[in-house]
Amino acid sequence: MKSSAKTLNPAPDLQAHANVRTVVRPPHGELQPEAPADPSSFDSTVARGDTGRMLRTLLGNLDGMVYRCRDDADWTMEFVSEGCRALTGYDAQDLLLNKRLSYLSIMHPEDRDRVREEVVGGLTLRKRFDCEYRIFHATGGIRWVWERGTGVFDLQGRLAAIEGIIQDVTERKESSQALREAERRYYQLFENALEGIFRTTLDGQYLDANPALARIYGFDSPPELIQSRKDIRNELYVDPKRREQFMALVRARGSISGFESQVYKKNGEVIWISENARAVYDASGELACYEGTVEDVTERKLYQARIEQQANYDTLTGLANRSLLNDRLQQAILNASGHGSRLAVVFVDLDRFKYINDSLGHHVGDELLRAMAERLRASVRDTDTVARLGGDEFVLLINGHGDPESIAVVLERMLSEISQPWTISQGDFNITCSMGVALYPDDGATAQALLKHADSAMYRAKEKGRNNFQFFTAELNALITERLELENKLRRALERGQFSLHYQPRVDMHSRRIIGAEALLRWNCADQENVPPSRFIPVAEEIGLIVPIGRWVLREACAQNKAWQDAGLPPFIVSVNVSVRQFRQDDIVQTIGEVLRDTGLEARYLEIELTESAVMHDADQFIAMLNELNDLGVQMSIDDFGTGYSSLSYLKRFPVDRLKVDRSFVHDIANDVDDATIVRTVIALGHNLGLKVVAEGVETEQQLEFLRANHCDELQGYYFGAPLPGNEFVEVLRRDEPLRKLSPSPKRSQLPLL
Ligand code: C2E
Ligand code: MG
Ligand code: MG
Repeated sequence: MKSSAKTLNPAPDLQAHANVRTVVRPPHGELQPEAPADPSSFDSTVARGDTGRMLRTLLGNLDGMVYRCRDDADWTMEFVSEGCRALTGYDAQDLLLNKRLSYLSIMHPEDRDRVREEVVGGLTLRKRFDCEYRIFHATGGIRWVWERGTGVFDLQGRLAAIEGIIQDVTERKESSQALREAERRYYQLFENALEGIFRTTLDGQYLDANPALARIYGFDSPPELIQSRKDIRNELYVDPKRREQFMALVRARGSISGFESQVYKKNGEVIWISENARAVYDASGELACYEGTVEDVTERKLYQARIEQQANYDTLTGLANRSLLNDRLQQAILNASGHGSRLAVVFVDLDRFKYINDSLGHHVGDELLRAMAERLRASVRDTDTVARLGGDEFVLLINGHGDPESIAVVLERMLSEISQPWTISQGDFNITCSMGVALYPDDGATAQALLKHADSAMYRAKEKGRNNFQFFTAELNALITERLELENKLRRALERGQFSLHYQPRVDMHSRRIIGAEALLRWNCADQENVPPSRFIPVAEEIGLIVPIGRWVLREACAQNKAWQDAGLPPFIVSVNVSVRQFRQDDIVQTIGEVLRDTGLEARYLEIELTESAVMHDADQFIAMLNELNDLGVQMSIDDFGTGYSSLSYLKRFPVDRLKVDRSFVHDIANDVDDATIVRTVIALGHNLGLKVVAEGVETEQQLEFLRANHCDELQGYYFGAPLPGNEFVEVLRRDEPLRKLSPSPKRSQLPLL
């Protein structure tokens, strides 16, 4: 560019210059005419050479073209600096006085009017003008130029010329245009994207949202979404914890993709979304916001669920199919082996299904399968699995039962459920099923072995005449058969009058007189040896029979006690053991009230014994009931104390009168230091809580001595008397004397088994 200065002929420039007056520019840019300069002085300066050269160098080095032109239609150039060539591609000579072409002619036609307007505007106001426009370069290309100029006025205020500078700004213009274009494109992308795009603050407010996001969430516009969802975590996510996981992941990894959650739309509808997001940090490296995209994947999720349903569930009944059963079975085996618990795999086959299917048609057959599937499902817990293998074959996985007996209880319930009449328009049907049980780990360690053994046990059930279940192992079957027989006999024992009560004295430590008696249930089972309470009471509890039996015990004990009192015997408290099941299933407070009223026994002569483990299990619920009993005036004791895990805070709140130290601790107090310490501690604890302490199972002089030395209040055990039938117990009562060791002491073999 500088080299082009050589081509410039200074003569016309200077010539042209010689005809104008110079102007003074005040700092704010307004122009004021000055006294006409002495043309000779300029010439003489130039003649002096230095200043001329300086000016030429200056103009030559300027990036752009300095000009002076007329305010005419062609913008006739009177002076152009050397920059002309670089700017326009023409020599100064070509442009000066429109020798070859006018400046107007190289201006882009579309810009000419605008430029004229802007220049005239500036001139009229006598201000500097600024404008950008396009020119045609001699090489044919278009260049963006920026022009700044001012009017030059003579003393009369007439415009003499325009002076200014024009610079090539093509590069800047293009890059800013590119920038604007990019911005526009990205904005279009943001606005028109099919995916939702967001930027949110760390505490869950939207900074930006695009129309797609608003649309996905059911809003009319992004501003409406931004306004109505100020707390994304709680207002948008169905499970707010999911939002926390999202943030934790983004923070930890910097970004996440395909993060799926359920969110609420504006109308409350729940949809599935998949998010890609990243953490945005500010200049100081602090986490500033999150940004990312959202896609509505509800359709895909529904489709997946449908596919999964088809792959894992039986279409007719909705139960798990063979493939899901296999998965669950593997899982259940792992769980059971981890927890050391049992798992029951039960094969179920409907009896005579083929007959119904053939005679009433497939449609009815399908109905039947659906109905039976529902009955099976309803008789197990949610954590158990009911699967249909096909036809009328089902498999159950029953977890979490420790012993075969409790599994038998579940299966019995199931047999009874299935055999309930099934009513359809064609009539009532009695359907039954046969079941085979294999237990893990007893009968097999693998899914395959368990299924095979359950299946063969099921065939045995069919052989046994249907409507029953069989365990895989013979010993178990024997055990369960025995247990079922016991259950059946127990169910009839009450109506057959096979129960009776024995009474065991409770003695005061100091007076050694009888102050109470514990009523203990005996079952005189006609066709076998008497079954001890420790064997039949748990069964009665399991099948719910304890409720009517317990009611009988209560009534019998109260009536007997009242009868003794009426016969003139010294009054004492009769203690009745009440099972936790009675508390749950019976309105025990009402029952006790009724029994007392009916028998006429005063409440203070009745004591209720509750085992420690039972009370502690449901402590909160018990407190209310215990208080009601307390209000009745009934006494209360905690039985088998020391075997459960009493919480002291509960113990304090229970309105009980006595703690009965379990006989397992009393048994060894003379020899076992730990037992001795426990008993001593329980006595101290009871006393601190203002309770009486009873020692159970006192058999020896030594035990008695220990208990006396440690201030135990009351005693019960063979030392003073074994439980006796009412007619024998009354003899002891009649003697009404301090009890010493009874002679002869009952032989162990005669005692009820414990
Ligand atoms: P429990 O309430 O702890 O009853 C005390 C048990 O200890 C009785 O056993 C009694 O015979 C036995 N026993 C008493 N003194 C001695 C002794 O010095 N040495 C030994 N080794 N044992 C002694 P039983 O009658 O076999 O009753 C066992 C359990 O059955 C009772 O334990 C009680 O929990 C339950 N039970 C008995 N009758 C009923 C009842 O009517 N209803 C309920 N729900 N449970 C009852
Ligand atoms: Mg008891
Ligand atoms: Mg006890």
